Amino acid sequence: RTVYVNGEYLPEEEAKVSIFDRGFLMADGVYEVTSVLDGKLVDFEGHAKRLERSLGELEMKAPCTTGELLEIHRELVARNGIEEGMIYLQITRGSPGDRDFVFPDPETTAPTIVLFTQNKPGLADNPVAKQGISVISIEDIRWGRRDIKTVQLLYPSMGKMMAKKAGADDAWLVEDGKVTEGTSNNAYIVKGGKIITRALSNDILHGITRAAVLRFAREAQMEVEERSFSIEEAQGADEAFFTSASAFVMPVVKIDGAEVGTGKPGPVAARLREIYLDESRKTAI
Ligand code: PMP
Repeated sequence: RTVYVNGEYLPEEEAKVSIFDRGFLMADGVYEVTSVLDGKLVDFEGHAKRLERSLGELEMKAPCTTGELLEIHRELVARNGIEEGMIYLQITRGSPGDRDFVFPDPETTAPTIVLFTQNKPGLADNPVAKQGISVISIEDIRWGRRDIKTVQLLYPSMGKMMAKKAGADDAWLVEDGKVTEGTSNNAYIVKGGKIITRALSNDILHGITRAAVLRFAREAQMEVEERSFSIEEAQGADEAFFTSASAFVMPVVKIDGAEVGTGKPGPVAARLREIYLDESRKTAI
């Protein structure tokens, strides 16, 4: 696979980053994952805007313009022949040549930028979406700026491992008795046809898929309520699902061992997945 690192397209074995890179030493970096459908980028604009915001919140400078980013994304998709899959983009505060808590001077230390593709044929037709997945609930002990998409993913990674050990697929995170989000996705329930999901704040990542799905839902005259919910309420809901750029809309059929609704993916999640995929294919660039 051809990857991109600091201005160069290279075979993955030849791409290198310094051991002093602050992404490696301190998780001092941000990322984005953009999905590819029909060889085109889904919601590139949304991801580029969130990236800009993440960089701004951390006082980091973008290493290139949005136009240049788009070019790099497209070039990698073309070089690697990706029809369906994802593009991972990471920008860190660079490699100052030593370890220091103080941020390096951005005039002398350039950010490190890395992109690579992940080929996932059949991503849109994922059979898992027809069965739904199971989640466990765990305490949300992450930091307080979850709206910034940083590469500090140790706890979400541990959460997935806890789920695996418990025989489940993923974990939903709970703070003060309410679900914040999934380890790598936004969480929803459906009650009496109404779609309920936590409101935006610093407590959750502002999902690009979330924004699109809520827009499509409202356009389709479905009712949306942005508020928090508990695990108990989710277990007693008609449906549950999550959204992310890599899984689109994914039904959740079991929470902490209790079946949600019929124990099968519900009609609202199925319909939203279909609308999301159709619309995304139409607007991908
Ligand atoms: N929340 C978290 C914690 C995530 O890691 C992700 C995916 N990166 C999401 C939500 C979903 O965001 P998006 O729809 O932009 O992929």
